[in-house]
Order: sequence, then structure tokens, then C-alpha cells
Amino acid sequence: MITLALSKGRIFEDSLPLLAAAGIEVLDDPEKSRKLILSTSRPDLRVVLVRATDVPTYVQYGGADLGVAGKDVLLEHGEQGLYQPLDLKIARCRMSVAVREDFDYAAAVRQGSRIRVATKYTQIARQHFSDKGVHVDLIKLYGSMELAPLTGLADAIVDLVSTGSTLKANHLLEVERIMDISSRLVVNQAALKLQREPIRALIDAFASAVQP
Ligand code: ATP
Ligand code: MG
Repeated sequence: MITLALSKGRIFEDSLPLLAAAGIEVLDDPEKSRKLILSTSRPDLRVVLVRATDVPTYVQYGGADLGVAGKDVLLEHGEQGLYQPLDLKIARCRMSVAVREDFDYAAAVRQGSRIRVATKYTQIARQHFSDKGVHVDLIKLYGSMELAPLTGLADAIVDLVSTGSTLKANHLLEVERIMDISSRLVVNQAALKLQREPIRALIDAFASAVQP
């Protein structure tokens, strides 16, 4: 049995066409069922539904053989022990720095200065500001980062942006793009050795279905 870890929502939705291209249909709809283990049209392949941030953990420790996870999640988790053969180019967005419209970001990030940044992505934010030579006080948040600069909790946020409409609605300005983000296929290294043929075949099928 091969176990594929997916998260509900956009990663699940965007993975369906890739699975279909590999001849695989998921037999349950996670929006309608409460099942956490979904069968597929292939008797030797099942899908487990886990929280997006839990996908690397499942794959790293063998709770799943493969998974689909955002680059953001992989960078925060640490990529050790995970084979990343493929950029699936789904769930695309970017990691950016945003501030209040009236905040002077250029002045705040002059060499040797100090800035207060709220984010869920503390590893990515720490690395980014350290590369710029800016001292950063990081405030870890779990949701609605947009609120932080508006309430004075932080000067800036580091967050995922796709259309920018949430930032705009909250009078925030995207002042720096840190990196482009998309979802990757991750594979457990032991599984790749033990089930080399079927897993290789799956990777190849996904690879030919990736949209440029
Ligand atoms: P939850 O929303 O349950 O707290 P989450 O935010 O980690 O969990 P999703 O919102 O489903 O989960 O995001 C999953 C992945 O999709 C993220 O890790 C990221 O790579 C990508 N993603 C997040 N937001 C966007 C977006 N606005 N547009 C495109 N891709 C996104
Ligand atoms: Mg989300």
C-alpha cells in the first residue's frame, strides 16, 4: 500500500488533476465526508488528509510515503530527510513583507536598524532579515497577520500573498517579495528504496502532468 498525504482545501483541489493524469481518482470528497483516509481507484494507493503544516512530518517519519506540501511549509519544517523530486507548480503564491501604507520601510531597514515583524513563518523571516543585515524582533502569530501592523503589535508582517486583495483591504503595502512559493511533491527516503518501482512511476506520471 502507498500512502499519499494531502491537506484539505487548495492543495487537495489542485492535486486532483495531477492524480487524474496519473490515472488516479479519489473516491471520497473531503468537503462532504469526515473520513481522514480516502480510497482511490487504485487499490494499492490511499490518501490521508492532514493539516498542511503536518504533511512534512507525516512523510519524514513514514506515516505517509509521499505528500504534497507548500515550499513555505517545507522551509519552516526543515527539509532534512525529505526527498523533493518535483515542483508541482500548484497553490502558487509569494512570500512577502508588508507594512502599513504610512510606514517608512526603507528607513526601518537601513543597515544596523531594528524592526518588529509578526509572522507565522519565523524561519523564513529570520533568514530574510539576517541576509539584509537588519536586526529583527520576531513575533510568532498563527492567524490574521494583517492585524499586527494595524494594532501596533508589529511594524511589518511576513506572509503569503496571492492577489494582494487582503493587504489592500487592510491598507497594507507589499514592500518586498521574499520568494515565489508553490507546492512540492515530497517522498519518504526509505519508501523510495522499498517501493522504488511504484513510487518512481507515480513521480513520472505527476511530472508529465505538471503545467508549466
Ligand atoms: P489553515 O488555512 O488550515 O490554517 P494553511 O494556511 O497551512 O492551513 P492552506 O491555506 O490550505 O493551509 O494553504 C496550504 C498551502 O497553500 C500553503 O502552505 C501555501 O503553500 C499555499 N497557499 C497559502 N495561501 C495561498 C494563496 N492565497 N494562494 C495560493 N496558495 C496559497
Ligand atoms: Mg490558510
